[in-house]
Amino acid sequence: MIEPCPGCGQLDRVQHVPAVYHGGHSFYRGQGPTVAVPAGDGVVYTSSQVSGVSVTAVARSLDPFPPPRRSGGLLVAMIVLALAGSCFLLLPFSASDDPPPGGTVAKALGYAVLSLPAFGVYLAVGVLIWLYSRRVRAHRKQRKGVPAAQQVWEQGWFCHRCGGVYFAEAARLLTPAHFRHLVARAGGYDR
Ligand SMILES: [Zn+2]
Repeated sequence: MIEPCPGCGQLDRVQHVPAVYHGGHSFYRGQGPTVAVPAGDGVVYTSSQVSGVSVTAVARSLDPFPPPRRSGGLLVAMIVLALAGSCFLLLPFSASDDPPPGGTVAKALGYAVLSLPAFGVYLAVGVLIWLYSRRVRAHRKQRKGVPAAQQVWEQGWFCHRCGGVYFAEAARLLTPAHFRHLVARAGGYDR
């Protein structure tokens, strides 16, 4: 037995939140625009396949999942830095063909100065690795919270007339944003 909407007191436009969410996704597939491709003396007309998912604003406002993890920009930065660091590391070795003037102390000091950039780069790589593992750990924790969040989410009812969400036992209409915040809190990934 569903309780009527606390906003309008009616039931006719009330729908289960998961039904609203899944109903708001539509999958499409079709032909893209025709483009002319030069081939030999003439041109060939071809069109590409397009496909995707369209999501309604209401479905998006009821999304129970944590934001997706951003793609590996940090990973790319780490690789680039590590490569740059390796180039700097070659500096002292290249200098050994043409040793700096002075005694042993001055020589050692010269090598140490030349090694400094490589050391700095590796330090930066270490910091990036630490940031990356922290982000992966946070993401894993969010994924673990999804079942708990979904349990709360599945108890929600959406009224299409009022545009709000309510729980059967609470006589209060919530905005979709407030509802999503409660769901995220249950999953431990407050936004
Ligand atoms: Zn209503």
